[in-house]
Amino acid sequence: MSFDSLGLSAVLLRAVAEQGYSKPTPVQAQAIPAILQGGDVMAAAQTGTGKTAGFTLPMLERLSQNRPEGGRRRVRALILTPTRELAAQVRDSVKTYGGKLPLKTAVIFGGVGMNPQIQTLRRGVDIVVATPGRLLDHMGQGTVDLSGVEMLVLDEADRMLDMGFIRDIRRVIAAVPKQRQTLMFSATFSKEIRQLAEGMLRNPTQIEVAARNTAAENVNQRVHPVSRGEKRALLSNLIQDGDWRQVLVFTRTKHGADRLARQLDQDGLSSAAIHGNKSQSARTKALAQFKQGRVRVLVATDIAARGLDIDQLPHVVNYELPNVPEDYVHRIGRTGRAGRGGEALSLVCVDEHKLLDGIHKLLKRPIDQHIVPGFEPDPSERPQPLFKKPAGRGAGGGRRPNGAPAGNRPQGGRRRGGRPGQSARQG
Ligand code: AMP
Repeated sequence: MSFDSLGLSAVLLRAVAEQGYSKPTPVQAQAIPAILQGGDVMAAAQTGTGKTAGFTLPMLERLSQNRPEGGRRRVRALILTPTRELAAQVRDSVKTYGGKLPLKTAVIFGGVGMNPQIQTLRRGVDIVVATPGRLLDHMGQGTVDLSGVEMLVLDEADRMLDMGFIRDIRRVIAAVPKQRQTLMFSATFSKEIRQLAEGMLRNPTQIEVAARNTAAENVNQRVHPVSRGEKRALLSNLIQDGDWRQVLVFTRTKHGADRLARQLDQDGLSSAAIHGNKSQSARTKALAQFKQGRVRVLVATDIAARGLDIDQLPHVVNYELPNVPEDYVHRIGRTGRAGRGGEALSLVCVDEHKLLDGIHKLLKRPIDQHIVPGFEPDPSERPQPLFKKPAGRGAGGGRRPNGAPAGNRPQGGRRRGGRPGQSARQG
């Protein structure tokens, strides 16, 4: 199948060709015609499947076809994303594909000043890409008008729920017209996602490109069992021996990410950490340096890495396994993108065997294990708890179902029930 048969106009087909895409990915082949027809769409597709172009291209097509006559520009399409990085990337995609169309786009996220965003909105935009928290701030101040929204896109909806954005999403939905087209993209169709979709989408076309909760097939996955204290030496060794030029490494905590990046730097491997405690400009800079090849190792927490669009990322390492098995699938979705191969390695110590079991259950198969010579795990090592018990049941005392203390939630997320304006949120 070629892009020509999907119903996109010549301007957009040229933009696609300029990107060097020869044929649509499976999610694009299904989503583009469905969205062009005007119906609601619910698609299970993770990062790396080409989902962004899958909704951006038909959105641009529809917005440019049905342009309102005269008058002021108003927000006609709203795209919600869980993280700032993803919002910036979606905005970049909108610009890449729609650069030749007379449509204006604003990206709205927290961590940067409100005023430039207010100015942009005031000048008039057709498309807003936003994280929920900052969008609500603008709604509260009356600096954004969503009453003309024709298309609403929820990108990585499962992640937004994980991050506790459910109430924010509902508030946004209450502010956009009922008569609209709604598109929902999610890595998985969990029960919660289906519930959310029920209230939001009307008779959606359902698209599922990969079997639910299965990891990308073109990713070679391996577990390296190792002693707790040997992980860093093993990682340095793997990077140096394999002469890896670009590797994304996941840690469970922000603190752990900083520490590991520092230590790897000391080992002579240029590294940077990205997580929610870093300023927006620090995160953007680290990502840019990584993309340019000036930083060899990017150490990230789950939320910070979510949706990072890095082309041809060959290596992903789970320095620590994630608390939630689904995050494993998200993490390794960063490699083997859009048809290219990749390698996802997990360094697993005795403390993490339960987490590994959870991942095997989700994948419905065990991951191949390989002990690296010289890094044999110490058989006398006994498991230690991964999560410190919370001191009290006060602010941070709730526990997630998997046993992680609430205080260990991925950074940037707002706790369920959090009020707008609280500092913990990302958007
Ligand atoms: P996404 O899943 O939207 O994050 O996209 C993953 C990557 O695939 C991005 O780097 C896109 O530029 C790339 N991509 C999107 N569509 C195609 C296509 N039809 N052919 C090849 N690469 C694509």
